[in-house]
Amino acid sequence: MRTDTATVQEVNGETVVASGRVKIHIRCRKCGEVFILRGVRDVKGHVETGFRRCLCDNEREFDIETLV
Ligand SMILES: [Zn+2]
Repeated sequence: MRTDTATVQEVNGETVVASGRVKIHIRCRKCGEVFILRGVRDVKGHVETGFRRCLCDNEREFDIETLV
């Protein structure tokens, strides 16, 4: 069964210009894995990345930083 977890995409140094699109830097507090994802910020300021969990099955302990 295929799980939709933590697909790490290489970020090609692309500058996010369009409004509402941000880069999210996520670091797992358990194993230290770092993910850089593209997310979309909605009008409420909530950022949706589609990120589910780390490779180590950690789902909630992350340091999350929004890169603008
Ligand atoms: Zn982890």
